[in-house]
Amino acid sequence: MVKVYHDKEIDDSVLKGKTVAVLGYGSQGRAQALNMRDSGVNVVVGLRPGGKSWKRAQEDGFKPVTHLEAAQRGDVVLMLMPDMAQPSVYKEEVALAMKPGKALQFAHGFNIHFGEIKPPKGVDVIMVAPKSPGAEMRRQYEAGFGVPALVAVQQDASGQALKKALAVAKALGSGRAGVIETTYKDETESDLFGEQAVLCGGVDQLIRRGFKVLTEAGYPPELAYFEVCNELKLIVDLIYKSGIGGMYRAVSDTAKWGGMTVGPVIVDDHVEQNMRKALKAVRDGSFAKEWIAESKAGAKKFEELMAECDGLEIEKVGRQVRRMSGLEK
Ligand code: NDP
Ligand code: MG
Repeated sequence: MVKVYHDKEIDDSVLKGKTVAVLGYGSQGRAQALNMRDSGVNVVVGLRPGGKSWKRAQEDGFKPVTHLEAAQRGDVVLMLMPDMAQPSVYKEEVALAMKPGKALQFAHGFNIHFGEIKPPKGVDVIMVAPKSPGAEMRRQYEAGFGVPALVAVQQDASGQALKKALAVAKALGSGRAGVIETTYKDETESDLFGEQAVLCGGVDQLIRRGFKVLTEAGYPPELAYFEVCNELKLIVDLIYKSGIGGMYRAVSDTAKWGGMTVGPVIVDDHVEQNMRKALKAVRDGSFAKEWIAESKAGAKKFEELMAECDGLEIEKVGRQVRRMSGLEK
């Protein structure tokens, strides 16, 4: 069984009088900085001068400084810029400040697990990985709840590495939901697999292909959008709240029967084989190698794929429908 911590089991005295440096102020950086500040933690935000988020951080009442200065001031230093940006920010600035006794913290294990960042021996290397996009984490915190998080220790130089990670997780609000102890390896590999096979990639392809099949057969695109995309949220909310069985109990008997007999024909053993291949590429490092090479070469293919996605018919129809219903401006 995994070890799960809640607020009452977490001793956060290790952060008393300490400073936490948040480097990056995007999805995770902003939410984490605001939650920790509201929890009474002394937070310094480190950014690249002139970037978009410098102003955003100022508007939220922070006084941003460079990555280097923040890393010098922080006892715990959080790397919260995109994974592909972290190695150069680390090498050029953060590494200069990584004196013994400090802790270096990540929200995802990619760069440590695949060896792109190699911190010195004297620092703690820890992880607090909230299992949620930043905006949702902030919303939950403001509503008095929190999102679950994973914590891990890669290097325990101070003997207090786990304590530090748990204290940060508590300050983020995650101790209200549950903090699960794991390893860098398990977090990195399962996170990459999950986002590729199910959460982002798998769901995206199910929606795209469902929309294509319906519209090619002559059904109106608006109807197809509602059937294969919009309603997905309601179904996922049911699963989130009450499990797969809870979802089935809330839909019609016809939907139960059709879902449980046709579902396995659509997503069949062949898909499972493909999932195993994806997991293998994550575990043997070939996915990481390919993504790092793409990023270093200027991310041209990456931009093309995003543009292709924006150009899909379902995206145009979706925007119209969401505007009509007031969901999108
Ligand atoms: P974002 O893309 O939202 O980060 C944007 C921030 O990074 C901005 O402050 C931006 O500054 C800065 N930044 C972007 N490029 C560079 C660069 N080349 N050099 C320096 N700063 C840069 O990141 P996320 O919050 O999505 O991800 C941060 C970490 O959290 C990653 O490790 C990710 O895997 C992990 N994570 C993310 C989750 C999510 O929901 N997004 C969930 C759990 C973990 P500027 O304004 O100057 O461009
Ligand atoms: Mg991820």
